[in-house]
Amino acid sequence: NTPLLKLENVSVYFEKRVGLFKPPSLVGALVDVSLEVNKGEIIAVVGESGCGKTTLGKVITGLQHPNNGKLYYQGIELNRLDKKRRNEYRESIQMVQQDSFAALNPKRTIFQSMADPLIEKGIVKNRTEAKHKVMELLERVELSAPEQYLEKYPHQLSGGQRQRILLARAISLNPKIIVADEPVSMVDVSLRVSILNLMARLNREMGVSFIYITHDLSTARYIAQNGRIVVMYLGKIVEVGNVQEAIGDPKHPYLQALISAVPVPNPKLAREKKMLALKSIDLPDPTKPPKGCRFHPRCPYAMEKCADYEPELKKRGNRYVACHLYS
Ligand code: SF4
Repeated sequence: NTPLLKLENVSVYFEKRVGLFKPPSLVGALVDVSLEVNKGEIIAVVGESGCGKTTLGKVITGLQHPNNGKLYYQGIELNRLDKKRRNEYRESIQMVQQDSFAALNPKRTIFQSMADPLIEKGIVKNRTEAKHKVMELLERVELSAPEQYLEKYPHQLSGGQRQRILLARAISLNPKIIVADEPVSMVDVSLRVSILNLMARLNREMGVSFIYITHDLSTARYIAQNGRIVVMYLGKIVEVGNVQEAIGDPKHPYLQALISAVPVPNPKLAREKKMLALKSIDLPDPTKPPKGCRFHPRCPYAMEKCADYEPELKKRGNRYVACHLYS
């Protein structure tokens, strides 16, 4: 059971300049992150902005080179892949960005944007074949009457339609993993569920794994269904588990706080919900992450040792949790 992709102790640091004459500080966007992505699974990666989830997505898609750690594709370390396997790896992991307008070239029609990679990669031989293939892909992402989209430019489409085009482009190369970074946050609220349903259908039908990056727990729970949730805080993974189990019974105080922050419309359920008030709502300065547990300045359960010793991500039953409360 070799995982499709494995990250082992991966770290990414960025230089951040705060003053013109001060030396740059290092920000740990990802710190010592290990994760396995298996065939056909949906993983929801959640956390506040600045927690490292987008950097994690970029490392997985190969857009960001880690400073430390190793990546394995189908059991082989990335550095050891020959040219052919490396190209296969690049094609097998596709990304769907949050901003569909920025992701599509505004000067190219939908046909041009979609046909070029198909011809380049030899999936189709000529433009006639490309036209058939593009229409087939548009139908797969539920854009009916696909011929009407071919000559359109991105600005002539709605946000939801553009997001479907990005998904069509992502599946055109038969990927094994799609990293979707906040794919519905800029889409009209009324259309979000239909795009999540589409991703879930592509996952079922094509067996493609999804890494769904979001700050929104309700969509994470909706799309991942029986998949896993990965909770990130200041560049580190603090909890991993089955989505339903983790949201139903969160272990890490940070996940408890995220769940507390989601409004519950039913007053009875709201009363029953375990509320957790953070000591501070502000995320600490990432250039000076707190010593010990990075969450301790905000954690209502913080103990003395939390300020001195960093908790490891350890298996607790079906869950992985990084918190001294469980040691
Ligand atoms: Fe809170 Fe301590 Fe657990 Fe960190 S290790 S989450 S500070 S209880």
